[in-house]
Amino acid sequence: MPEGDTVWHTAILREHLAGRTLTRCDVRVPRFATVDLTGHAVDEVLSRGKHLFIRVGPASIHSHLKMDGSWRVGDRPVRVDHRARIVLEAGPVRAVGVDLGVLEIGDRDRDATAVAHLGPDLLGPDWDAARAAANLTARPGRPLAEALLDQRVLAGVGNVYCNELCFVTGHLPTAPVSAVADPHRLVARARDMLWINRFRWNRCTTGDTRAGRQLWVYGRAGQPCRRCGAPIRYGESGAAGERVTYWCPVCQR
Ligand SMILES: [Zn+2]
Repeated sequence: MPEGDTVWHTAILREHLAGRTLTRCDVRVPRFATVDLTGHAVDEVLSRGKHLFIRVGPASIHSHLKMDGSWRVGDRPVRVDHRARIVLEAGPVRAVGVDLGVLEIGDRDRDATAVAHLGPDLLGPDWDAARAAANLTARPGRPLAEALLDQRVLAGVGNVYCNELCFVTGHLPTAPVSAVADPHRLVARARDMLWINRFRWNRCTTGDTRAGRQLWVYGRAGQPCRRCGAPIRYGESGAAGERVTYWCPVCQR
């Protein structure tokens, strides 16, 4: 699942768990299997970048969805299978962390350490546009897509928004950061894009929320560019091809 989901998951976990006392805490990660937070209240659920924190009593449950993770939450029995890493219950509510890329439980005071390496959080209360722009241009020769995806530069952009941002600003994903004429504007667009979509399950960057029209380039390989009609190109990079790139060969330079 792509980015932005952390914000969505944070919202549903907060809605269902905040203020409630845990009646079950079943951690299925060996290192933390003995941790039992039953009887403690969930004080808050928050995120920073793509990290999600559930604060329970003295502890903080830190998770990161990575590629395939998710939290399933609901009032009805939510399925628990071998992919569950943690099961939390508060009365009728059950939350199951599935295939989480990171799951650790520690002192809530240490949350800051877990995210100390992150750049300004696009959706955080302490968003710092100037610092994000400075981070972005710190290494001028770096490919734009790589810099946007680097959570130390700014936190919150994943594959979908990265590709869409390159398109709307007219840059090839491989263009060097130095080609960006106005980094402050780029960073502002990133913030707007994530902000508009923060509670949406189907991300939309085009302003047209109808099915099949929400995105400019992402997932549209071979389909005509919405601006010029040229077929959208597609490429993969990274060790396991985990970074996917979509671009219009005409609109992006
Ligand atoms: Zn085009």
